[in-house]
Amino acid sequence: MKRRYLTYILLFGFPLFGCQNKVNAQSTYQQEWMALKQQNEALAFDADIHLSDAETALDKKFFQLRKQLLTDTNKQKISLFNSSFEELKPLIERSTLFEIFQSMPKGGLLHTHSGGFTDVKWVIATARKYKEAYVYDQADNDQFIFGQLGFFEGKVPEGFVSLNKKLTSDPGFEKKLADLLILKRDQLCTYTDYWIEFEKRFKRISLLLPYRPFFKEYYKKGFMDLVQNNVQHVEIRYIFEELYDFKKGKYPLKTSITDLQDIVKEIQKEHPEFSLKLIYSSFKFLDPKSIEKQLETAFELKKEFPDVISGFDLVADEAAGNSVYSFRENWVKLDELSKKYGVKMPLFLHAGESNSVFNKNILDMSVLNNPRIGHGLNLIYFPKTMELIKKQNKLVEVSPISNQVLGYVSDMRNHPARVLLSNGIQCSINSDDPSVYGYEGLGYDFWVAFVYWELDVKALKKLVFNSINYSSLNESEKKKALTHLTQQWDDFVQKTNQKLK
Ligand SMILES: [Zn+2]
Repeated sequence: MKRRYLTYILLFGFPLFGCQNKVNAQSTYQQEWMALKQQNEALAFDADIHLSDAETALDKKFFQLRKQLLTDTNKQKISLFNSSFEELKPLIERSTLFEIFQSMPKGGLLHTHSGGFTDVKWVIATARKYKEAYVYDQADNDQFIFGQLGFFEGKVPEGFVSLNKKLTSDPGFEKKLADLLILKRDQLCTYTDYWIEFEKRFKRISLLLPYRPFFKEYYKKGFMDLVQNNVQHVEIRYIFEELYDFKKGKYPLKTSITDLQDIVKEIQKEHPEFSLKLIYSSFKFLDPKSIEKQLETAFELKKEFPDVISGFDLVADEAAGNSVYSFRENWVKLDELSKKYGVKMPLFLHAGESNSVFNKNILDMSVLNNPRIGHGLNLIYFPKTMELIKKQNKLVEVSPISNQVLGYVSDMRNHPARVLLSNGIQCSINSDDPSVYGYEGLGYDFWVAFVYWELDVKALKKLVFNSINYSSLNESEKKKALTHLTQQWDDFVQKTNQKLK
């Protein structure tokens, strides 16, 4: 009996032990798998967000809505991943998700530009009401380009014709002009020299914006569009120039600030939560000497309007302009200027709006006092800098649609921001130059981020609240803004849950 038992153990026992080992190994494997899953999740940018029961319920509904959208587009053989924003825009607008993102409180828009944030169709319709509005209807030359708008009284430059007369006599011109003011990436595979075309859009309206009567209407419309889109705060990369009218001529630079303050005050009568900051912006293609002058002006304005001017930026195509590093003498002098003017001038530089590792602008971001980074697309290729940006708690302002229109990303699933978010880099969602891309508000960008990056309510909430937490609002303004946003958010969660029952 004993022997038989021993034989049994000898014959079957070892395999049995082996089997037990296998079970152990599998359970260690499972444990490790679960631990790794949690460890990865703990590194993500939204790890500190804990959802309420209502938010968890909403999350499940959002998940189903996206699933349904993917099933439906699949059935209809719509190439969701290889189509441009332009091609998908009607589909986006018809979707339930879009309706939800339009109504979602979005906090602040931290990255947009003075020349690109008000509906171009409105620009045309409003400009034509001024008898002094003209349009250039000749072929491009060194000074003017076809479709360029401007206000003139008395001597009108050669080649310009009355805008209203032109629109009345040529019924097709309104659409033609709108197309000249909007940049489309019709299909992902068509060739366009995007930055050349992009800059032409700004040039075409550049003479309109400093005309004081139009200026006031333009910003009021832009701010109201944001308010209606549930955006409570905006920070504009603002190119300062002297406003003018035909009665008084030119006004000092600060008139644009006091005018904007007046417009904001008017909006605040009905929407007391609305706030504005301006980031003094100049151009990367200028030389350090000119930037020195620009910085002096920025400091002068900030000294007088410390609550309006939040910082300084340099814009333009990074592939064509000077590197951030080439302005090092300017950055080194910032402390000295801060002492001279008694105010700080944080930088909000565009950096890494590029797919190339030869563009090293992102390196400066961790060395400079640059609390927010515009775009940061190639940050993922600089792991040490990525680690520093995370440690320094700096935010990357992501503009998904802009990145696709300008040719940096095609399939939105491959947007670098996904890598940043999973690595714990804080980001916010922005529209950059929505009017140039043919839309208003932030709903489209949130739709794109949610659908293509497989976000959940936790991520959405973090992105929304980041836009206030990383804004340039001062501590008391931020506190007020967060109270408003929290209340709006809770309201949105409750109402949307009811709607999606
Ligand atoms: Zn920008």
